[in-house]
Amino acid sequence: MTAILELHDVSKTYEQGNEKLTVLDHVSMKVNPGEFGAILGPSGSGKSTLLSIIGALTSPSSGEVKMNGRNVHNLNEKEQTSLRLKEVGFIFQQSNLVPFLTVEEQLVFVGKLNKQGESLRKRAGELLSHLGMAERLSHYPEQLSGGEQQRVAIARALMNEPRLILADEPTASLDQARGKSVVELLAKETKDRNIATIMVTHDETMIGYCDWVYRMT
Ligand code: ADP
Ligand code: MG
Repeated sequence: MTAILELHDVSKTYEQGNEKLTVLDHVSMKVNPGEFGAILGPSGSGKSTLLSIIGALTSPSSGEVKMNGRNVHNLNEKEQTSLRLKEVGFIFQQSNLVPFLTVEEQLVFVGKLNKQGESLRKRAGELLSHLGMAERLSHYPEQLSGGEQQRVAIARALMNEPRLILADEPTASLDQARGKSVVELLAKETKDRNIATIMVTHDETMIGYCDWVYRMT
C-alpha cells in the first residue's frame, strides 16, 4: 500500500533575533488511505505549524515530508502550488468562504483554478447535495449558519478530488452538536473516498471518530 503521507524526523525552529524556539522536534508519521487521524495538543504546541508544513505552506528546518511518494519541500514554487490545489484540501477554523460568491460558486471557483474539463457546476451540485446543502446553492455565506458554512468548506476541500484533507480546528467555532456532525461527516467522507484526513483539534471528545491520535505537548 502506498502511503498518502510520510513524515521523517520533521523539525521546526523559529528564530527571532537571538531567540530560538523549537516547535517541532523530530516528528515522524505515516498516513495510509482511509485513515482519519487527529493531532491533539494545547494551544501553542505546534499543531498549526505541523499542518502547514504538511501542506507545503511552511518549510521545515530539517526532515522530510513525502506526499503521494514525492518529497514536498524539494518541489519548486509552481509544483508546490499545483500540489496544494490538486492533492490537498484545506479546511480551517473559520470556513474562509468568499463573501461575494454563492455556495455553488465557491466550489466552481476552486474547480476552475484546477482547470478540470468536466462540468464543474455538476460536480459542485453533487458534492453539495451529498453534504446536505442542496437547498443552499444560491445562498451567500452570511445567509448560512456556522455549521452550514463548514459543510460548504468540506465540499470545497473535496472539489478537486484530493487524496489528503488537512483540517485545522474545524469545529472550534461550532457548538458541540454541530461540531460532532462536521467531524462525523469528515470521518465518513474519508472512508467512502478512501482518502486520508488529518484533523487538528484540542477537543478530546472528537477522537472517538479517529483512527489514530498524535499528541503534542
Ligand atoms: P498551535 O496551532 O498548536 O496553537 P502553532 O503552531 O500556531 O501552535 O504555534 C506554535 C508556537 O510557534 C507558538 O509558540 C507560536 O508563537 C510559534 N510560532 C508560530 N508561527 C510562528 C512564526 N511564523 N514565527 C515565530 N514563531 C511562530
Ligand atoms: Mg493552531
